Amino acid sequence: MARILITSAIPYINGIKHLGNLVGSQLPADLFARFNRAMGHEVMFICATDEHGTPAELAAAKAGKPVEEYCAEMHEVQKKLAEGFRLSFDHFGRSSSQRNHRLTQHFAGKLAENGLIAEVVEKQVFSIDDNRFLPDRYITGTCPNCGYEAARGDQCENCTKQLDPTDLINPRSSISGSTNLEVRETKHLYLKQRALKDKLEAWIDSKTDWPILTTSIAKKWLNDGDGLQDRGITRDLYWGIPVKKGDEPWPGMEGKVFYVWFDAPIEYIAATAEWADAQGLDDAAWERWWRTDKGAADVTYYQFMGKDNVPFHTLSFPATILGSGEPWKLVDYLKSFNYLNYDGGQFSTSQGRGVFMDQALSILPADYWRWWLLSHAPESSDSEFTWENFQTSVNKDLADVLGNLVSRVTKFAVSKFGNEVPAGGSFGPLETALIADLGARITDYTRFMEQMEVRKAAAELRAIWVIGNEYLQSAAPWSVVKTDPEQAQAIVRLALNLIRVYAILSAPFIPDAAATMMQAMGSDDWTWPTDIPAAMRTLPAGQGFTVPENLFRKITDEERADWQARFSGIRS
Ligand SMILES: [Zn+2]
Repeated sequence: MARILITSAIPYINGIKHLGNLVGSQLPADLFARFNRAMGHEVMFICATDEHGTPAELAAAKAGKPVEEYCAEMHEVQKKLAEGFRLSFDHFGRSSSQRNHRLTQHFAGKLAENGLIAEVVEKQVFSIDDNRFLPDRYITGTCPNCGYEAARGDQCENCTKQLDPTDLINPRSSISGSTNLEVRETKHLYLKQRALKDKLEAWIDSKTDWPILTTSIAKKWLNDGDGLQDRGITRDLYWGIPVKKGDEPWPGMEGKVFYVWFDAPIEYIAATAEWADAQGLDDAAWERWWRTDKGAADVTYYQFMGKDNVPFHTLSFPATILGSGEPWKLVDYLKSFNYLNYDGGQFSTSQGRGVFMDQALSILPADYWRWWLLSHAPESSDSEFTWENFQTSVNKDLADVLGNLVSRVTKFAVSKFGNEVPAGGSFGPLETALIADLGARITDYTRFMEQMEVRKAAAELRAIWVIGNEYLQSAAPWSVVKTDPEQAQAIVRLALNLIRVYAILSAPFIPDAAATMMQAMGSDDWTWPTDIPAAMRTLPAGQGFTVPENLFRKITDEERADWQARFSGIRS
């Protein structure tokens, strides 16, 4: 039994995520977690909400709520949606937890002890009416380059020129609109990433099994231009983790908080500690996942994320870990995804374009979405959601191929032989051939799942469903029963066993349908099939079974057209 630690990139707190976000990290991470549990491994699967920073403060202000209350509510909303999509986290934590406060302060203290923190005095724009420093992108003004009147302090959206807030003509606060601004000095902490460059590069070079996409992005950030830069880890904000050096105050940093990018990945560790707390376990229970000196030496750690998060997880977070000088677990394998586009354009949170997690579940159950998203995961390149493709995939793969097989077999079996697995006949050449074919395909499927080849695994699973249908076509029990009822019983017995095996193999993709299939077969034996001849005889003659409710319904052309219109833009 292996020990597998899995983290999904943590979703930001301000609002509901769309399906592109879901398939870029949480959903494939769930597939991998479910598969590894099914293989009998010990799995710890962690996610959380990423709660700090200015966007959360502004979203709370817009909602007319204190930021603590807003984040607590939105965390519950995201948690419920994760449950709706059957994301099987061992814990869904919060980056605002006390656990994360203490760990983040601990890491900062260690980095300071090791000479990896610089204190830098810089000039920043302060809004007197807002009584706060303004991050660059929350300052609006006229672009000195093109005259665009709504240029942001970090960049002009119109001419794309990189700007300093002090470049703007007639600058004003994007929060209140106030022009009562002044430049003030403020002190911030910087993580000296440049000093860690050689260590980071050696570590990345040691990862010979990482995808080229991952290592090339990391190398680019390490070496292109001026190379890896030191990075600010603090902000003048209210909402965040107060700056401390371990348990001690940090002189000169009173009233400041850690920058959200610094504390967010530490939440992977903190959320595991939150899990232990929630289970009533002691520190040893979570440390054995994260501290190589306390039992984590045999843990293999996998991270799942969108490609935009790769620099961060290959450089910034490892810089924190390596720089601490403590034996924390570093990632072993990083699975990154390209983008899912939506119906000829992009998903857009700000424009409400595309399907969001709550809307998806309001029109169809989770399995429909899970199947489409995973079987079209944007692995080697971007992929695109279209309603036509979704309709075809659901109607063919789920309804025609899998659902129809389960329905036909169980209904026929009940009508001819009653509600028990029939005993007659024995397996002949057709059954032997199917079992051999299944064995080879399940070996491939298992390998693709181990390698996190999500689309290839989905294609193989579909092929496994298809050969069951082909077998039934050839074996034709509905004809055989007229001439050789004993043989028809053997065919039905095999087909009922096949449904149980399909439940096991399909569960990582479509857990609800799989549970329905297993329950209908009157079994609770989820052992991953390795000995296929034995697996096809697991349900004994006389075992009771039922005809399950229709597993999947078809999507009509009217529904497709209706949804296409409804989700084309401006979320209502
Ligand atoms: Zn401009």
